[in-house]
Amino acid sequence: MRDDHGETIMKAAVIHDYGEGCDTLRYEDVQTPSPGSGELLIKTHAMAVNHCDTDLRKGLFGIAQEMPHVMGVDAAGEIIAVGDGVSRFKVGDRVAPHFMLTCGICQNCSDGKENICQNAEILGVTVWGGYAEYVKVGQNHVVRLPDALSYEDAAAGQIPFATAWEALVEVGRIRAGEHVIVTAAGGGVGSPGVQIAQLAGARLIAAAGADDKLEKATALGADATINYEKEHIGEAARALTDGRGVDAVLEMIGGRILRQSIDALADGGRLMTIGAHGGEQVDVDFIEFFRKHITVHGCGRSTKAQVRRVLALMAAGKLRPVIHKRFGLSEAAEAHALMESRKFFGRMVMTP
Ligand SMILES: [Zn+2]
Repeated sequence: MRDDHGETIMKAAVIHDYGEGCDTLRYEDVQTPSPGSGELLIKTHAMAVNHCDTDLRKGLFGIAQEMPHVMGVDAAGEIIAVGDGVSRFKVGDRVAPHFMLTCGICQNCSDGKENICQNAEILGVTVWGGYAEYVKVGQNHVVRLPDALSYEDAAAGQIPFATAWEALVEVGRIRAGEHVIVTAAGGGVGSPGVQIAQLAGARLIAAAGADDKLEKATALGADATINYEKEHIGEAARALTDGRGVDAVLEMIGGRILRQSIDALADGGRLMTIGAHGGEQVDVDFIEFFRKHITVHGCGRSTKAQVRRVLALMAAGKLRPVIHKRFGLSEAAEAHALMESRKFFGRMVMTP
């Protein structure tokens, strides 16, 4: 990793400016980060394409980057160097950085709510991320990988499974026997949501806009399906539950899908929302909220404790990350194009 001038260089997928076109991403040489005090240098073995990455490439993330920038919120690899004062990790340890680079000392971190840290940096957003041969993070910002878990499964699974876990289990408190809808059931967080609801013993209704995605959700264990291009989610949900409606919804589309999902809730139902690419401004009738005692929770960020839990369940074979297609890191632009085509089920994983 040294060039002719003694500089330490690495390959990375880099942007020099924002752009609609996937070719905004260029595979080229950049300087390898060097670990400072308390930091780890990780040789990446796998990284996944996240919606955050495609938003960031287009300049839609809402946080400006210094250019050139290495994006990538998902990665997994092994530690190859440690800075001064690193006590908890050593060279050779298998780890995944957690995208929330939390401060550890703010009021929310102190309260055990690091996913709403008031001072967090974000991997691949405010600092260089995982679309590179090497990534640098603090020793407090990684999770160890179970021996039985591959780097690819770790990169593919950690954020989506932890996100779905936080929403369904920690916030939504789903219980065995409850009826639960997961929308965008073919998406990156959707298929983990289907599996986690099943593992929790819920009766899972997968909702998506295409029959082929619903067939795959059924293969993952969904008990029933709703195609929301053909059916109204509220009406379909009542038809599937003897007219009662569902106890919880994990919703990630927004727009009419969010409105219909609120309509699908039974009395006392909970809706967890983690995305709104399908419509950010939504007309909602608030009378339903107090008439039915329903709750809407904003979710979307996990803690390292939740990541550790889902990685352990993946290693035990209880949760299975779905990898749609593998790419080389040099093909990051093609991986972004596939992500934006929406013609996939599961995740796009890249290897350096
Ligand atoms: Zn904090």
